[in-house]
Amino acid sequence: MFVLIIIGVFIAGLIAYWILHEVIQSAIDNSAMARNIQEIRDHLVGSKAEEPAVSGDDYENCPGCDFLVKKTDRVCASCGLALRDWD
Ligand SMILES: [Zn+2]
Repeated sequence: MFVLIIIGVFIAGLIAYWILHEVIQSAIDNSAMARNIQEIRDHLVGSKAEEPAVSGDDYENCPGCDFLVKKTDRVCASCGLALRDWD
């Protein structure tokens, strides 16, 4: 009878340890996942923020000749390509 109580306590301890382990492990996984998502988000936002910095806020490269043109320009000043359709 005494042995059964000891075994019962031992099993209860194992279950408690396993639950605690699972909770801690899932918490670690969640923080790792959150960190990965944050890194991906930083990468996406960073690459988006870098893109206009290359050609300037109001400038972009002509798709035809890579000449730096204003985003408000209708045609490329270098090759005359229509950059966008206006009404
Ligand atoms: Zn051009």
